[in-house]
Amino acid sequence: MRIADAGRHRLQRRPRDLAEPDGALGGAGLQTGRQRVSRPGKRAADGGAYRPALTDACRPTIGWLNRLAFPGGTFDCCLRPRRLEWRDNNSAMREPEMSDISVHHRACHLCEAICGLTIQTEGERILSIKGDPLDSFSRGHICPKAVALQDIQNDPDRLRHPMRRCGDEWQAISWEEAYELVAERLAEIRERHGSNAVAIYQGNPSVHNYGLTTHSNYFLGLLKTRNRFSATSVDQLPHHLTSHLMYGHGLLLPVPDIDHTDFMLILGGNPLASNGSIMTVPDVEKRLKAIRARGGKLVVVDPRRSETAAIADQHLFVRPGQDAALLFGLLNTLFEEGLTRASELPLDGIEEVRTAIAAFSAEAMSARCGVPAEQIRQLARDFAAADRAVCYGRMGVSTQAFGTLCQWLVQLINLVTGNLDRVGGALCTEPAVDLVETTKGGHFDAWRSRVSQLPEYGGELPVAALAEEMLEPGEGQVRALITVAGNPVLSTPNGRKLEQALDGLEFMLSVDFYINETTRYADVILPPTAPLEHDHYDATFNLLAVRNVTRFNLPVLPKPEGALHDWEIFIGLAEAYAGRVGVELKPTMPPQQMMDLALRHGPYGDKSERKLSLAALEDYPHGLDLGPLKPNLARRLKTPNKRIQATPALMLDDLQRFAAQPQAGADELLLIGRRHVRSNNSWMHNYQRLVKGKPRHQLLMHPTDMAARALQDGQRVRVHSRVGVVEVEALASEEMMPGVVSLPHGWGHARPGVQLDIARQQPGASCNDLTDERQLDVSGNAALNGVTVQVSAA
Ligand code: SF4
Repeated sequence: MRIADAGRHRLQRRPRDLAEPDGALGGAGLQTGRQRVSRPGKRAADGGAYRPALTDACRPTIGWLNRLAFPGGTFDCCLRPRRLEWRDNNSAMREPEMSDISVHHRACHLCEAICGLTIQTEGERILSIKGDPLDSFSRGHICPKAVALQDIQNDPDRLRHPMRRCGDEWQAISWEEAYELVAERLAEIRERHGSNAVAIYQGNPSVHNYGLTTHSNYFLGLLKTRNRFSATSVDQLPHHLTSHLMYGHGLLLPVPDIDHTDFMLILGGNPLASNGSIMTVPDVEKRLKAIRARGGKLVVVDPRRSETAAIADQHLFVRPGQDAALLFGLLNTLFEEGLTRASELPLDGIEEVRTAIAAFSAEAMSARCGVPAEQIRQLARDFAAADRAVCYGRMGVSTQAFGTLCQWLVQLINLVTGNLDRVGGALCTEPAVDLVETTKGGHFDAWRSRVSQLPEYGGELPVAALAEEMLEPGEGQVRALITVAGNPVLSTPNGRKLEQALDGLEFMLSVDFYINETTRYADVILPPTAPLEHDHYDATFNLLAVRNVTRFNLPVLPKPEGALHDWEIFIGLAEAYAGRVGVELKPTMPPQQMMDLALRHGPYGDKSERKLSLAALEDYPHGLDLGPLKPNLARRLKTPNKRIQATPALMLDDLQRFAAQPQAGADELLLIGRRHVRSNNSWMHNYQRLVKGKPRHQLLMHPTDMAARALQDGQRVRVHSRVGVVEVEALASEEMMPGVVSLPHGWGHARPGVQLDIARQQPGASCNDLTDERQLDVSGNAALNGVTVQVSAA
């Protein structure tokens, strides 16, 4: 069948045959997925085969799961080729009676918090978007971004057709024409220059959209390139590498048990702005305040008194890039003062840790991190004295020169105080789609980048190497790029150098629905359907949630005529490319079927009492609570000897690099980023309701630093770094630690050719025009925080 027809088919709903153990299946009870207000609706008719026979042989062959951990993995399913069946719930919505008001329930996919939404529509018009009070996980909470989902839907700048560049103009073309053009150009470039001449970059939204997760590799895997990159290496790579080294799997990520802890120590995280990250925690402000309400304590360590620090019991300023020094001081104090607690977890190497960090006392570390030694010691004592405590380090401590050391130390502090794998401490989830059990554990440094010899992790190279791989001549030079839901010009270090590299490419394809700062360099742009036009299952963030939760929601709006979901686009590309190069494609199936298989194979699937399947989840449109997190790490360890490795060799080596690091001059300014709840990385600046009011992209600077440079509050300034200069407005802010300036990431929309009308009216400057692609963590993660800059009057 033609892929473009796939939307007309429906998956057959599985008969309701669920056993409900202890009556505990639903946090919100049985509800229909879409309710009519004006008259009771009947479900759309079903059709088509839905449940493939499930055998154990399917388990290791669900390729999209392998892809999530291994970008180089390939789909290989034991199931025979089958018709593509897909339920979009569309034809019912196109019926005349759909002028009635309908109420839909859906998870918001925009950030990691996955809040439940209640969306009212009339026909294809969105009437309202509100928090869903019946969602037991998010409890009615939403942030302003969710309301802007209607602006994405209605945005005149959003692309609705495949586009081809013609000089400085863009021309709408057919899907078939686009596929053929892409296949021809990529095949020809690979033929001339080899597989690695094509690079791939996948942006952050890739993991918020399960159709992208399941199918991008169906096409991208055919290219067999080692030049794969993603937003991981400007974000959370140190988390994955630490878990890979210590627990044997990069996705075995302990998350704070925020609802049961008595003491939460947050470093480099601002959940009130981010809504939680590597910690899926909707309604986080209430959850943090609840710690204090039950007599607990919240401590925030950050070079800025952030929104989260403002509601904490204690806030400590730390010098950017020196969180590792503070963490060493804490761990050293725990050992030195006998504040550790025995753990029953299987563990190797903890005595080597004690020896290795013996020199890193609170007193020795104080000058580096800027926290007085007595405060470090007292923090260690308070943490150890709490019955249940958890240390959590996020973006600010990952995206710095010692990001992996920081994440290793966070794990060790939880471990030696007995708070790892303990209720109220740090726990691993047991999600319904369990990526830890269905994927391999990851690999590190199996190969290196061509130019700077940077190590791969899980099949991806550090994105800091992307520009040089395009610019540096020689065998293996990148000549073509595919971007998927990404904007690396604004998201990765030294964006100007990357622009220069993009300008020299022979061919570029973007799967995206905007002409943004990166995709403006593309030759072809393929836009997928908008978020509310496709269904949603959150495979990634259920893995990181502070409770075990699961949900599946059908689309809210019909797929427009001629539009394609992103997974359909990847199948179209794969068919065209495979046809051109004479490769036989393996069969695939729609994401819904893959998810159904994964659910039924999972811990709550066919072999459990719950017998979860995708069809079963349709009865829980407000989400299904599977219970609180419980200790499970010992049985989930994936290290070869099934024991925690407390002293990975890579970390011991990096101790030497840390000890030898030259210290920044006292008069230098250090740049950090910041987040705002109305922003979402490099996008969502094109919606009036999110950018209205006072601008939020200025440089924040302590008044004493401004005075020292004879600068006035509100003055235009130039910020210089090794790689570039930007001009911005500087605001005096007592929030800032003296010696530190802050510029949020994701801005800088005033580039020529960007077709984001509202964003261009309030463009801001890109902090990644200042960040340095040479400043990296041992993992290859970019050190976006702690960049040395000079600030002067413009
Ligand atoms: S916090 Fe995140 S998931 Fe929740 S409504 Fe806002 S953007 Fe959506």
